[in-house]
Amino acid sequence: MAEVKYIFVTGGVTSSLGKGIISSSVAKLLQARGYSVTIQKLDPYINVDPGTLNPYEHGECFVTIDGAETDLDLGHYERFLNVHTTQANNVTTGRIYQSVINKERRGDYLGKTVQVIPHITDEIKRCIKLVGSDGKYDIVITEIGGTVGDIESLPYIESVRQLRWELGPKNCIVIHLTLVPYLSASGELKTKPTQHSVKMLLEEGIQPDILVLRTEKDLTTDIRKKVALFCNVEEDAVVESVDVSTIYEVPIRMHDQKLDSTILRKLNLSSDNEPNLNKWKDFLLKLKNPKHEVNIALVGKYVELPDAYKSIAESFIHAGAANEASVNLTYIHSEEINESNYSEILKPFDGILVAPGFGSRGIEGKVLTAGYARVNNIPFLGICLGMQCAVIEFARNVINLEGAHSTEINPKAKHPVIDLMEEQKSVIDKGGTMRLGGYKCEIAKNSLAYTAYGNAEITERHRHRYEFNNQYLNEFINAGMIPTGINPQSNLVEIVEIPAHKWFVGVQFHPEYSSTVMRPHPLFVEFVKACISDN
Ligand code: GLN
Repeated sequence: MAEVKYIFVTGGVTSSLGKGIISSSVAKLLQARGYSVTIQKLDPYINVDPGTLNPYEHGECFVTIDGAETDLDLGHYERFLNVHTTQANNVTTGRIYQSVINKERRGDYLGKTVQVIPHITDEIKRCIKLVGSDGKYDIVITEIGGTVGDIESLPYIESVRQLRWELGPKNCIVIHLTLVPYLSASGELKTKPTQHSVKMLLEEGIQPDILVLRTEKDLTTDIRKKVALFCNVEEDAVVESVDVSTIYEVPIRMHDQKLDSTILRKLNLSSDNEPNLNKWKDFLLKLKNPKHEVNIALVGKYVELPDAYKSIAESFIHAGAANEASVNLTYIHSEEINESNYSEILKPFDGILVAPGFGSRGIEGKVLTAGYARVNNIPFLGICLGMQCAVIEFARNVINLEGAHSTEINPKAKHPVIDLMEEQKSVIDKGGTMRLGGYKCEIAKNSLAYTAYGNAEITERHRHRYEFNNQYLNEFINAGMIPTGINPQSNLVEIVEIPAHKWFVGVQFHPEYSSTVMRPHPLFVEFVKACISDN
């Protein structure tokens, strides 16, 4: 078996340069050349996982099929590569320390002082190698979160230094992403921050092999030469990443500069096969040449930070392209929606999505929104809490169950139509204790879900504690809200629909986590289709 090759992606100068997109684009190009690739993210924060973080902190929490709550970059990896990630693909400092401390308590280091070097760095290296250990991958790309020079990323950089030394430069390369700012007053692109950032990496023992420079303007040959000279990298290893209209364009731009061939050469791998990007380019063509336009409202409470709904926004991009439609997504704060303004606010839209969420803030706005979509026959997709709000609204206004609510919001609700799962009642810890990851769901024929999936058995990812309360099932069926998806083991309701409505679907799971460029999620595709025929 050939040795696994490692690519590390570090960032310098500022955060938010898009390391996740560069990592995903490189991975896509290598995959399109026939290599099997996975991407891992190392996050320097001390939370064990991002599951307990408010979305305002780091954006959306992405959930893998094996039930890990992870960084949103894993969503990009899956959307670009169309390959599942797992728990092993996201490691945090919290997880590293937890595991080292557990070993210490077990007595594994008996007699020794436990230190950052070698114990923490050994554990980091173990986690890096773990993803590539089952022989499934030719190449493992590891993105190091944070910015070079941060105190908390030091142990990660040190681990990369050690691995590079252990594995050799033909098996392990470093791509460093930096910023080349444009000073409009002097009309110049400036390379000094890049030089400083590489110097800092050198101080920590790492000579980057490739530099990717984020820039607003194209780099001249002179600038590339200058950066190459001052940073000890070959000229063809200085690559620019100019702002583009869609992130899905980035692999094409990187290939135009032969970044994939440069990487393969450095890793001593064959670059004989040109990447097959036909399907990817077809997608881009459709994305850029829409024949239709739809306006969809996303009603949620984290709308100030669009990253909080990253996977939903990307799912609409995939589903839009599949329908040759441009989807204009408008984020609406559910706290701003009330009895007196909801129809005014929601009137302009061809479709409405009520977003997932936790807690009581903004809940009545979401309930009103679901009611507006139901009464006015507007295509509606409710995800997780969004589905629960649609159920609450239907209970209150169609079945006339006064005071119907979720016990998450009102533990003493007269009609707890959404209630805590039995196995959740004794759970005290907040971290990693929800119903998480992939669960099977059986779909009823003659349903919108069946039309979408074309399949009676699906698996979808979950992240919630509360459920449709089956004690009310018959009342809902008799009044016209039908459970069209059921978990075969637990009998939990996973999908509800209103057959009398044009297109009304609520799902307890999160379809947005599994939409990819190559496999747009069928529910989003059908939802957008319903919105197009509505306008
Ligand atoms: N707060 C709800 C629950 O825990 C919904 C969660 C969600 O929307 N992800 O069941």
